[in-house]
Amino acid sequence: MKKLILAALICSALLLTGCGINPVTGGYTLNFYSDAQEYQMGEEYHPQLVAQYGEYADQNLRNYVQDIVNRLGDVSHRPDLNYRVTLLDTPEINAFAIPGGRVYVCRGLLIYINSEAELAGVMGHEIGHVTAKHSVQQMSKQQGLDFGLLLGAVFLAKDSEQNAQNFLNLGSTVSNLALLSYSREDEMEADRLGVEYAHKAGFSPLGVGQVMKMFERMSGKQSKFNLLLSSHPASETRSKQARIEVSKLAENQDINRELDRGAYLGKIKNIITGHNPERGVVNNGNFYSTRYQLAFNGGGGKFSMDNGYLMAWQNPPQTAAVYLEMLEMNNNPEKTKTTQMEKNLGTTAHTVTGRNWNSSRGNVYIYLAQTKEGYYQVSQYFNIYRGKMLCLTVLEKLTGQQTTLANLDSALQNLRPLSAAEAEQLKPPRLEIYTARAGDTWESLAQTYFSPAEAQKLAWFNGCELTDSLPEKIKLGLF
Ligand SMILES: [Zn+2]
Repeated sequence: MKKLILAALICSALLLTGCGINPVTGGYTLNFYSDAQEYQMGEEYHPQLVAQYGEYADQNLRNYVQDIVNRLGDVSHRPDLNYRVTLLDTPEINAFAIPGGRVYVCRGLLIYINSEAELAGVMGHEIGHVTAKHSVQQMSKQQGLDFGLLLGAVFLAKDSEQNAQNFLNLGSTVSNLALLSYSREDEMEADRLGVEYAHKAGFSPLGVGQVMKMFERMSGKQSKFNLLLSSHPASETRSKQARIEVSKLAENQDINRELDRGAYLGKIKNIITGHNPERGVVNNGNFYSTRYQLAFNGGGGKFSMDNGYLMAWQNPPQTAAVYLEMLEMNNNPEKTKTTQMEKNLGTTAHTVTGRNWNSSRGNVYIYLAQTKEGYYQVSQYFNIYRGKMLCLTVLEKLTGQQTTLANLDSALQNLRPLSAAEAEQLKPPRLEIYTARAGDTWESLAQTYFSPAEAQKLAWFNGCELTDSLPEKIKLGLF
């Protein structure tokens, strides 16, 4: 009897704290988070995301995306949320929303989209994840999973014994935007909501399906699409489903609306297409940043820039990885250093056996981590440079417990101020929009601007097949 009462108490306690109404379905779902907590979580992560990826400084483009998102939010299942758009200055092909309603769009995704309807579909999809509370549900299901983990650990991967090994394999664990991996069902639901919200807000509901179709055509074996497809899987099934949703709408409503291709392409004209030299770019095996006025001689090493660091570099035998970051000090250099050191230590699953400032160098902090694969050393050099805290971190595998600063020293020797001549030459690549003339074909444009073999890709990139006639405005790019 006692046991039964206890069980009943536990159940009702769980019901009280763990369930909430899903705004989309109207049913009960497991959710430990109140709206206020969701909002708070989002506000906590927003500055971190912006610090890491940088905001793309095009106010007109941001306002345009914001207007679309406002229209979608107003007709969504959670119209009271304040959906705020941030454009991220990264060529990664992704968009995501975090609890509380902040929506992020990487400029790398915007160059693939072909119309306002497609943008509305993608934004509707992301808002759908928020209204259906997909990430808070996922966090509620897996106890101990916090949103930071969902987002990907900022520096060291949190959960794996292979931590340090992965760390040396740049890009595999540190690419943060592989973040929110929802279930297939969640993705399907978000697509359905994307179609619904886009239609209700007055856009053509065809957008979601068209974006999926374009990625399906472009992806092939191209690894750069894997990130998007891994967090947003099965695009073929999804483009089919999106078509079904649209045909359901079409049964009793007029869905014929403008896709607004020309208006959209006018907004993304001249958008930066690759890495922004402001933030950092790799040219001829060297790294340059115009904002930070820095250059790093790569000397045949391997760079990785997609993970949001200013620079990540691996030396040729791949025994050490170097990370360069410029930190905001907020008038407190000491706190900046401590926060950076704690950030690196805080998320590690391995045992940290020693940590201290190197006695012979006041500005080098060093610690040893013991993992199943052996000892790893992290050495961090701090120095104030052009009003920011420059932090150069070297991660390396040791043969024993004897620490060394040899790799840190050689990395520091490779780091130097950017020359005026170098800065002058660094111009970011930008997207050109071409107005079709009589007689143009996909083949003729490919031949003139790229190579005849690229006609197919040019058509796909523009959301068309080779057999389709040319739209009036054409994105001159292949990517
Ligand atoms: Zn999604």
